[in-house]
Amino acid sequence: MKKEDCIFCKIANGEIPAKTLYEDDSFRVILDLGPATKGHALILPKNHADDLFGLDDDTAAKTMILAKKMAGTLKEKLGCAGINLVQNNGEIAGQTVMHFHLHLIPRYEDDGQKIQWVPGKPSQDELEKIQQQIIE
Ligand code: AMP
Ligand code: ZN
Repeated sequence: MKKEDCIFCKIANGEIPAKTLYEDDSFRVILDLGPATKGHALILPKNHADDLFGLDDDTAAKTMILAKKMAGTLKEKLGCAGINLVQNNGEIAGQTVMHFHLHLIPRYEDDGQKIQWVPGKPSQDELEKIQQQIIE
């Protein structure tokens, strides 16, 4: 299902042009307009889901299989040294377009990008409390 006024629904379904790298019945893979690096791509399901929380299991599974395939293509064709998969959910997590998408970011020596966080230093007790909170 498409959502009215969703730009990625329109792109995924071919109503707004984009630089397409791959398309099938369920997905379109496009070049990001504001790339972190050369070849930065986005996997867009054609059916609308706001984010990971709203994604159906079948699309979730197929997204990762497609990511694997596209990562291989990007590595082969662009000769990148590595690839980051990034997937933001919610404004607080940096999501700016509210249609689920998975970033494929090719990485090159000295590409000047940093996709990282500051590691915390929790005690074993703290880790255990969090573990219990999640699994209980
Ligand atoms: P996020 O911050 O995870 O929601 O990522 C949204 C991404 O979509 C950003 O990297 C934007 O550069 C990209 N983007 C936004 N509009 C377009 C568009 N029309 N075509 C291609 N990429 C886009
Ligand atoms: Zn949408």
